[in-house]
Amino acid sequence: MMINKIIDTILPSRCFSCGIIVSDPFALCTSCWQDVKFLTPPYCDICAMPLPFPSEEAQKCGKCLTDPPIFERIRAAVQYNDMTGKMVMRLKYAGQIGMAVLMARQLAKYAEQEGEEALLVPVPLHWTRMLRRTYNQSALIAQHLSTITGQKYDPFILKRRVATKSLKGMSGKQRGEMVGRAFEINKAHRAKLAGATIILIDDVLTSGATSRACAKTLLKAGAKNIILLSWARVMSAA
Ligand SMILES: [Zn+2]
Ligand SMILES: [Zn+2]
Repeated sequence: MMINKIIDTILPSRCFSCGIIVSDPFALCTSCWQDVKFLTPPYCDICAMPLPFPSEEAQKCGKCLTDPPIFERIRAAVQYNDMTGKMVMRLKYAGQIGMAVLMARQLAKYAEQEGEEALLVPVPLHWTRMLRRTYNQSALIAQHLSTITGQKYDPFILKRRVATKSLKGMSGKQRGEMVGRAFEINKAHRAKLAGATIILIDDVLTSGATSRACAKTLLKAGAKNIILLSWARVMSAA
């Protein structure tokens, strides 16, 4: 359209990472794309950790066989590395909210696999953080996912009970204790949870303590199962 042409000329789309001009407004340039490592099979059917060999049958990693996660499934689009870490920082702190469109596009195939009745629920930010940052990056990803997949999205169903301190520098156990009681269900939205399949949306999966605490709260309130979709995943994470 003419108007888009004019906008393009005035405000050309730029690569989210290095800033050179690109044609797609929600993309990286070819060179930066090379540093984005997508998570592809063979991987564990449950937690999506890479497995050494492809197989015809369903495969589970050793950890999921002995100690299965609270999630029905975990899927992530990309490995967390310097490039994807930078992309998350830009979304979180530099106001590059268009990045959420790119991330949602990369998660859409995983969300679609869970059926159209599944409900998209972002990991919430505490309202005090919300005030400072003005938006929740996971909610933005969930919202764009909902536009792509047609699945419903509810950013209000889960609430943070207390402002959790920064988890940096804590051990896995300490993080678990900190966030274990951090979430509650918004009563006005509770009815939606009965027997529901919930797709929990996060930007980065690190130790998983936060998303596990969300899942516990949702299951206790009547959800049938929880699928965790995180855009990036720290590869050493459990
Ligand atoms: Zn670039
Ligand atoms: Zn696994």
